[in-house]
Amino acid sequence: MPDPILTLSGVTKTFGGLTAVKDVSFSVMQGEIFGVAGPNGSGKSTMFNCITGIPFGPTGGEIRFKGQRIDKARPHDIFRAGLSRTFQKDAEFPDLTARETVALGGHYGAGLRGQHTRDAVEEALDLCQFEPARRDMQTADLSVYGKKQLMIASALVAKPDILMLDEPASGLTRPEIAALDDLLIKVNAIGVTILIIEHVLGLLLSVSQRLLVLNNGAVLTEGDPKTVIRDERVVEAYIGGAAA
Ligand code: ADP
Ligand code: MG
Repeated sequence: MPDPILTLSGVTKTFGGLTAVKDVSFSVMQGEIFGVAGPNGSGKSTMFNCITGIPFGPTGGEIRFKGQRIDKARPHDIFRAGLSRTFQKDAEFPDLTARETVALGGHYGAGLRGQHTRDAVEEALDLCQFEPARRDMQTADLSVYGKKQLMIASALVAKPDILMLDEPASGLTRPEIAALDDLLIKVNAIGVTILIIEHVLGLLLSVSQRLLVLNNGAVLTEGDPKTVIRDERVVEAYIGGAAA
């Protein structure tokens, strides 16, 4: 049994009177792909924000990464400790080229400089199958999938232990989702643990080894993805969410 790399214990986040994340506890094991599903507004992104401290940590509870408490750590220190994330909204720098964008992740995340940065940037872009011919294009001129590849390459350039993805499939076509599926399997195969939030269940079911479902900020259920997805409460939460 592998060790947990990330453990949340009773994590809560309130915004004034609203409890967006309620007493959430789970562990992500070293080397796995762990999926998080849940209807819109169920607290998935807020939970991600609490883990990475960007822009805020939790109101209550404990978060441990590789055994160390990180729930009060600074985002920069969490990133440097080996936890990288992407954002639901593409955080792009429109005028920077693809290479420059990924290099920023290398400077910030791993303190890389000079040739080390250049090598790491090419390696991350190769891993994400981002064509060499497009690497000097400005971010604003890339396709939606190109921007996603870049966002993932920027997170991977610092060689994280865990990669956290917030709804990476949003806005993608089916062939692009299939390519993303392959990419995540490849990244995981080189030893990167993955925590992935997805509203689109197809990708989650295909890549996740375990799946947790949030509803109204709380854990509804957790376990084998195929079993979880047949759970009546999950079906109801999704249908209820769609009808809302
Ligand atoms: P999900 O990612 O599952 O769609 P979110 O985590 O974005 O859900 O949102 C969960 C709940 O928290 C929602 O009710 C949302 O309106 C609320 N929320 C999220 N961020 C903030 C914030 N910064 N201030 C106030 N309420 C917020
Ligand atoms: Mg979200």
